[in-house]
Amino acid sequence: MGGRYNVAMPNQTGWSFFKQVNAQVVKASDACKLSSDVRTILGEPKNEIIVNFPVKMNDGKIHMFKGYRIQHNNLLGPFKGGIRYAPSVSLDEVKALAALMTYKCSLVELPYGGAKGGIQLDPAKFAQDEIMRITRRFTAALGNNIGPLYDIPAPDMGTNAQIMVWMMDTFVNTTGSQARNLSQAVVTGKTLACGGSEGREKATAQGLVFCLERWAEENKKSLPECTFSIQGFGNVGGNTAKLLHAQGARIVAIQDKDATLHHPEGIDIPGLAAHMGRTGAILGFPGAKPITSDAFFEVEHDIFIPAAIEGIITADTAKRLKCKLVAEGANGPTRPEGEEVLAARKIEVIPDILANSGGVIVSYFEWVQNRLSERWDLEEVDLKLKKKILRAYDHVREVSRSLSCDSRTAAYVHAVRRIEVSYLERGIFP
Ligand code: NAD
Repeated sequence: MGGRYNVAMPNQTGWSFFKQVNAQVVKASDACKLSSDVRTILGEPKNEIIVNFPVKMNDGKIHMFKGYRIQHNNLLGPFKGGIRYAPSVSLDEVKALAALMTYKCSLVELPYGGAKGGIQLDPAKFAQDEIMRITRRFTAALGNNIGPLYDIPAPDMGTNAQIMVWMMDTFVNTTGSQARNLSQAVVTGKTLACGGSEGREKATAQGLVFCLERWAEENKKSLPECTFSIQGFGNVGGNTAKLLHAQGARIVAIQDKDATLHHPEGIDIPGLAAHMGRTGAILGFPGAKPITSDAFFEVEHDIFIPAAIEGIITADTAKRLKCKLVAEGANGPTRPEGEEVLAARKIEVIPDILANSGGVIVSYFEWVQNRLSERWDLEEVDLKLKKKILRAYDHVREVSRSLSCDSRTAAYVHAVRRIEVSYLERGIFP
């Protein structure tokens, strides 16, 4: 087995991602004088589901896995949020990510609440058929805790469209035959052949690029004039790099979990994607210079896009970053101390719940298409995504101006105000 079950635990420093998200919400709640009852409710997730389940591995041995599904809030609609397979997965991480989904869905005005799930494992250390059995058994263990009108998972770090299809197929085959058609909508981010939507694969990146275009317009620039540095070359980072490169923008640095690459004239992104397709990694790409992980934060550029893990913008890295804007493709990349340094250095931030909301927006479109038995073309999906994400972008700008607050606080204010109105009108049962 070579220690594949002994995964690293990056959160051993005492830093709590969930506390960080709650502290950001408290700051926004103070700024908009949110009702103390609503603050109390939002401070804890509604349901914390932990399942332990056995899976037979390829060496013939049984291994027990721990799966999480945290359902933070479902006031505005069914619980919605991704499934993460990563060594970092912990109760604290999944609680934070679930809470972020509640605020993200409210900010972009989707009829959803927030949830997140995951398993602590490094998918690179498992064979594809093992990942399939883990996924199917996890889905079976979750049972009726997920469902197309109740809680709808999607891909996140370490999971993809294939994993969503296995989840969907397992759910469909364990629910009654009358519900088979509707049950397809139990997860989003599926492959096109199995009920996925055009544009879902690149949706998070596409939404991020729409936000960047609006920011560039505000700053009287164009994206091809800007230089970029991206952490992560997976779904979010890789697709963002491709979209930006296609517009003529220069991506001068890219980091993933194994390597950091630099090219001051711009990395050949299609070449890097082809190398990744051949080798499974960005490591060893001959078209750029490998640099140290430390040097990554010293590279000169205009826009930094964290699109991998949380907590990487600390006070130290924020002091070293040489950019004008941080656009958060990842969830929770900026720590509060890092945020203070960025603000003092006048580096702007497009916060995660806005910048990476394109994924859940197109997941919503997929869900609607499944429920209506419709199929929209890519043009229609992209147009609807642009309209929705830019509406949220403008709301954040308006709130930021009216309350004289930073963009993250403004994003949370818009999100919590919508939740507050609904709670005040409905009241608390009984
Ligand atoms: P992914 O698994 O497709 O890619 C993750 C990338 O991060 C990989 O390139 C990996 O090598 C890199 N990485 C992992 N650990 C790293 C480390 N320690 N240092 C540097 N790079 C590292 O994941 P993804 O779906 O692109 O998700 C990335 C981030 O975006 C996560 O925070 C996720 O929650 C967020 N997000 C994803 C979606 C989506 O639709 N997939 C939507 C919204 C937000």
